Amino acid sequence: MKKLLMVITFLIGFSSFCQENIKVDVVDYIKEVQIWKKQGNNMSFTFWIPTSYWEIALKDSPSVSPGYVNYISSLFQDYVFICALDLEINTNATMTYTLEQDLRNSISIVDGNGMDYFPLENDQITEEVFLMSESLSPMFAQMLGQMGEGMHFYFFEIKDKQGNNIIDEYTKGEFTVKHSNHDFKFQLPLVCLLPPKTCPKDGAEMKGNWNYCPFHGEKLE
Ligand SMILES: [Zn+2]
Repeated sequence: MKKLLMVITFLIGFSSFCQENIKVDVVDYIKEVQIWKKQGNNMSFTFWIPTSYWEIALKDSPSVSPGYVNYISSLFQDYVFICALDLEINTNATMTYTLEQDLRNSISIVDGNGMDYFPLENDQITEEVFLMSESLSPMFAQMLGQMGEGMHFYFFEIKDKQGNNIIDEYTKGEFTVKHSNHDFKFQLPLVCLLPPKTCPKDGAEMKGNWNYCPFHGEKLE
């Protein structure tokens, strides 16, 4: 597992291909799934880890087999997986972190229809999922540097009556993670997962959620 963690860490910044064969930059991806809120000395953070994250972060790694990537993805696919952090920066530059239980008591997700969801307790997720998240935890903490000390994982089950996930990074929608008196709103689909468009004037590549070229005003194709 230690080897896997190192591999994941080294992959940050590399490009990969997602399931629809669009080139996805891991940095672009991360920008869309991580939200910081700052207010005075308070900093709050939400990192949504969608199922496609694992494939995008690990697919080109020679040391992690595609089978293992699929295994991690399949473990988490039935959950909305959130990494959350809240802290106060003290006058002496040390940090005071909101405790796991306090974060757990404050965190919820509101789906696009205004329905509220609360985190699953550890005995409501499978042991495999719990152990995998524990073993991935140091890698996530490392991404956050010193502040990684205060981050915690929460799992939600957000499904429709047919048992399908309501929150899907490839499908149009939105949801808001609430914790520590902040709202973290996520718009879907993730733009980095959309096929890029092109400007008819000069053929330049444009973001998949843009309708018009910002330079020529032409409708994008
Ligand atoms: Zn143009």
